[in-house]
Amino acid sequence: MLQTRVIPPAEGAYQYPLLIKRLLMSGTRYEKTREIVYRDQLRYTYPTLIERVARLANVLTEAGVKAGDTVAVMDWDSHRYLECMFAIPMIGAVIHTINVRLSPEQILYTMNHAEDRFVLVNSEFVGLYQAIAGHLTTVEKTLLITDGAEKNAELPNLVGEYETLLAAASPRYDFQDFDENSVATTFYTTGTTGNPKGVYFTHRQLVLHTMGVATIMGSVDSVRLLGTNDVYMPITPMFHVHAWGLPYVATMLGLKQVYPGRYDPEYLVELWRKEKVTFSHCVPTILQMVLNAKAGQGVDFKGWKIVIGGSALNRSLYEASKARGIQLTAAYGMSETGPLVSCAHLNEELMAGTEDERTTYRIKAGVPGPLVEAAIIDGDGNFLPADGESQGELVLRAPWLSEGYFNEPQKGAELWAGGWMHTGDVATLDAFGVIDIRDRIKDVIKTGGEWISSLALEDLVSRHPAVREVAVVGIADPQWGERPFALLVVRDGHVIGAKELKEHLKPFVELGHLSKWAIPSQIAVVTEIPKTSVGKLDKKRIRVDIIEWQANNSTFLSTL
Ligand code: AMP
Repeated sequence: MLQTRVIPPAEGAYQYPLLIKRLLMSGTRYEKTREIVYRDQLRYTYPTLIERVARLANVLTEAGVKAGDTVAVMDWDSHRYLECMFAIPMIGAVIHTINVRLSPEQILYTMNHAEDRFVLVNSEFVGLYQAIAGHLTTVEKTLLITDGAEKNAELPNLVGEYETLLAAASPRYDFQDFDENSVATTFYTTGTTGNPKGVYFTHRQLVLHTMGVATIMGSVDSVRLLGTNDVYMPITPMFHVHAWGLPYVATMLGLKQVYPGRYDPEYLVELWRKEKVTFSHCVPTILQMVLNAKAGQGVDFKGWKIVIGGSALNRSLYEASKARGIQLTAAYGMSETGPLVSCAHLNEELMAGTEDERTTYRIKAGVPGPLVEAAIIDGDGNFLPADGESQGELVLRAPWLSEGYFNEPQKGAELWAGGWMHTGDVATLDAFGVIDIRDRIKDVIKTGGEWISSLALEDLVSRHPAVREVAVVGIADPQWGERPFALLVVRDGHVIGAKELKEHLKPFVELGHLSKWAIPSQIAVVTEIPKTSVGKLDKKRIRVDIIEWQANNSTFLSTL
């Protein structure tokens, strides 16, 4: 250890812990009258938000919640969720943002594993909750959330209804200081195998993540996305990595915030128009649904800046959105990373390129944000050069990465093998410092000794005018190991088969952009592609479906 100079603080010097309460208190500084909006049901200003957070803290404390307890929330995106994201950690407890789109068995597993003691349940989920309540091992009390008039529900050990309890509680609470390394939030990530894993973030990590996101999105000129005049509406659920941490950023900066409840693409467009939303974030499939919404047809979305993450952003979606007036910016991250790691960035040299070259960089995962270190390694853990060619696993360091999985030391150690966080993604780094995600390690298609990126193939297939949506997976093949298989949804009035797709891909092979082994010899045309609980392509399910169709010689299939 270096013998550095460390000076003990002066007597009485305040030791400032990085706590989530500081983010809330900053929110009123810029524009006090900015609103928090919930659908067409409620709107209030920042001073009221602060008051309501204090009221909720009093309600929870009186109900018996203590520092260190885990308090779970089952709700759609709402002002209440925002209040919980502050009040629960601010009293030293941990908020468990339940993924309400998981199966009841998985929800039950996560609640028992997280050791939830209190649960806030939206009336929509009362049936679901009742079905699992008998198997919950740690929950002691429940609290009802409702949009409607019904203030009673058959919930076991019900403390009361949210609004009624808040109205009766004191609007003041003395939020104490405590260790900034205390866990503030937890939620579960589902892998391809095994049970969901609990990731968790401390106050210090969330404060630093908030500062990191605000810095990238507010200060880097090529991605100026967020300023105090923006109007924010999440379209990534609050249970998915706390809506990518943006509610904390929006609150710190005092932005107008619009919470849409359960996502309905038609209603999202209506809210966008009515509340003059300028900034959102989502996964590609949700954006596609918004673009397809009836309410949005013929609408110029000019002025709407959307961060796309969670999956690769392909060129077709980027261009289709641009034609509709939407400015898309790609970003990369994962549940374990808080989530923001990198954001598309074009330096002056790249900005001077052609429109086509600029698009190539706008859809890549981008440049690591401030304080983030990124590297690529080979299978033996050796670092690979940042030459845009060498492919390896992306590994990361940043002050806001989950330091393990809750109560799973072995899996945590694997995540952190060698002192770097392993993403499970294959990537390249180039001389501009840009990360290009080639694929998830487990989704790379190994065929005839070659490695084919399912993402690259999806990008090229999506450029066919008949293709509305595509997923590419590797399917076991006795001769080649695996063969690529494309699952397509076709635009109205179009038809496409394996032969037409081959014709479309051939020029890319001739130009050297694609291996000839990457041309699928079989495809399927379906009306819908299975999605995960957060709206990503569900490749696990897709593989199972394809094997079944092949066994039954399904009419969905088209073969060369
Ligand atoms: P999750 O933890 O469920 O949010 O999933 C994280 C994974 O999504 C990453 O490991 C990547 O495989 C994928 N992902 C996120 N952002 C991007 C991006 N910009 N490009 C490609 N893949 C991405």
